[in-house]
Amino acid sequence: MNEIKKYSNGDITIVWKPHVCSHSTKCWKGLVEVFDPFKRPWITPENSTTEKIINQVKQCPSGALSYLINDEER
Ligand code: SF4
Repeated sequence: MNEIKKYSNGDITIVWKPHVCSHSTKCWKGLVEVFDPFKRPWITPENSTTEKIINQVKQCPSGALSYLINDEER
């Protein structure tokens, strides 16, 4: 089964599908305070605003990133 990872700051939940990620580096070049591949966990939504996270998630070229607000996938 393909793994799905979720990272929440209590407001927004970032959903990451590792098997879909093309490692384009776009997310961590755009918002390294949230997406840092050298840290564990590598996604820390508490380090930025919901608005910035949404903007960055939308730029993921592979569709590996999405987000949930009130448990609804966007
Ligand atoms: S932007 Fe998307 S495809 Fe690129 S590294 Fe991040 S999660 Fe993976």
